[in-house]
Amino acid sequence: MFGWQPFNMNSFNLGNGIFHIPMELPWSSPGFVNVYLLEDKNGFVMIDCGVDGEEYYQLLIEHLDSFKINIKDINLLIGTHMHSDHIGLSTRIREQGVKFALYKNSTDFITHYNDWKIRFRELIILAEKQGAPKSFLQDLNEIETPIYAGKVTKPDLLLDEGAITEVDRKLFTVFTPGHDITEISLHDASSGIIFSGDHILPKITPFIPTTNEDDDMLGRYGDSLDKVLNISHSIIAPGHGGLITSPYERIEQMKIHHKKRSERILEILALSKKSGWEILEELFPRNLDQLNLRLAFQETMAHILYLKNNKKINFNVVNSVQVWEKLS
Ligand SMILES: [Zn+2]
Repeated sequence: MFGWQPFNMNSFNLGNGIFHIPMELPWSSPGFVNVYLLEDKNGFVMIDCGVDGEEYYQLLIEHLDSFKINIKDINLLIGTHMHSDHIGLSTRIREQGVKFALYKNSTDFITHYNDWKIRFRELIILAEKQGAPKSFLQDLNEIETPIYAGKVTKPDLLLDEGAITEVDRKLFTVFTPGHDITEISLHDASSGIIFSGDHILPKITPFIPTTNEDDDMLGRYGDSLDKVLNISHSIIAPGHGGLITSPYERIEQMKIHHKKRSERILEILALSKKSGWEILEELFPRNLDQLNLRLAFQETMAHILYLKNNKKINFNVVNSVQVWEKLS
């Protein structure tokens, strides 16, 4: 039987040939990324791997040792999405002969992953159009690629929606963009577990990292939640935190969270027209540090672009800044 209680941060055998490893991260919140190993008759499939660094590679080897698994027993590493805490270590693992898989659109984002100057180029343009202060634009300009991202090259295997035929168990790719444009969830049909990466998390609502004004990432995210809702499953094994044992309830909670935030923006705009930056200041009145301010801006823009796409708001350009108004 499975141990359904939320696990503490120890390695864990989930049954059904599934093992869990909490990989330490170089920051405290979240302090771990969940690595999962799924056994098939040829060896193991690994889902996500943690950040890059020799010390993190050694930690992974120690965790594998505790299950008496050798790195050479792993045939395939699948990254749920292109964030450093999920795939940073992938290049070191590939050097051991392990094949690496990502969703097929990942090839369009390898340079964005490896070079944060490219990654944030569009966001700087977006922030300028929303009336962001000079200091914010300056901070975006100075962002460096973190060392624990490592360097990623084209994966050995590009996954498409549906069964992963390279694995000898019923494992399915479900494309679930929103938190990341390349994000997938993995449905293991025999255990009824969905490995959700950061698409669905137990405590926090995943951040929607909008960079492109033509892409309604929050709309995509909502569609991806519905996609998971429509797959029969009993448990969600997320990329961070404990198992989600009431997955349908959790998905509904996350939808409500986003709905409330969009409604709040409509209330703000019902009183007066505002730029994207002014909306952010109403939504997040506290002083935020540099990182949290960027996250708040991207989250605010995700909602603004979602409301625009749903014809609830639109903008006029005043002094080169987009000023948003509620449509009646
Ligand atoms: Zn993550």
